[in-house]
Amino acid sequence: GLNVRDVLFAYGDGDGKPVVEGITFGLPAGKVTALIGPSGSGKSTIADMLLGLLEPTEGTILADGVEITAKNRRAWRDQVAYVPQDVFLLHDTIAANLRLAAPQASDEELWAALRKAHAADFVERLDRRLETVVGDRGVRLSGGERQRIALARALLRKPLLLILDEATSALDWQNQSLIAQSIEDLRGQMTILTIAHRPSMIAFADWVVAIESGRIVEVGQYQRLKAKSGSRLARMLSGERA
Ligand code: ATP
Ligand code: MG
Repeated sequence: GLNVRDVLFAYGDGDGKPVVEGITFGLPAGKVTALIGPSGSGKSTIADMLLGLLEPTEGTILADGVEITAKNRRAWRDQVAYVPQDVFLLHDTIAANLRLAAPQASDEELWAALRKAHAADFVERLDRRLETVVGDRGVRLSGGERQRIALARALLRKPLLLILDEATSALDWQNQSLIAQSIEDLRGQMTILTIAHRPSMIAFADWVVAIESGRIVEVGQYQRLKAKSGSRLARMLSGERA
């Protein structure tokens, strides 16, 4: 698992106002942790530090007890995979997009990853299948389909840590539930962090970390926080319209 310990981050030379501060939480191995908070609260900044793309201004991040430092950061980046909020695919074939993550992968391995990402069905329906050209030059995929391809690509990297940023442009319900099913299937196989704005997208999480204005306001087991009256999670869940 991972441990974020008393992390502070300020953009610029680190002397500006911190965007996150006093961040301490764990990501238990094989579990699904949800990071939830309003827009601008610092979720992507925390994700970027976990991905080894940003260095904490203060504090440490440990992977299985080993601190991520300037020395091992590059190696750490190979162990993590990220599915962004808005997925951009190269204007090329589906196979080429997938093989960016695993150049040597066989077609069977690509199909296995697509199945895990619940993307195999729609790719099956495309005439040229893996050789279908997507993007401006070819088939226009929906946001949810692009996100499922990106998930398959992330899985081909066989990451220790998988981070999914919830699409801000609300995915339709079917795509949301396909992504949720994939996460459900992957539980136990890797450490997962999902980033969410809306409580409905974290119902499959084992742990919840709630953040507001760069500070953690609540951490705990999803079921426990949900049942605890007065918890922020309980209030968010009851306040959300269906
Ligand atoms: P959203 O839900 O909208 O994706 P978020 O929780 O992911 O938001 P962050 O992207 O981490 O929020 O941004 C946190 C704060 O840091 C915001 O106030 C943002 O304006 C600021 N910020 C983000 N990137 C930079 C940057 N490169 N330079 C300066 N400030 C930045
Ligand atoms: Mg963000």
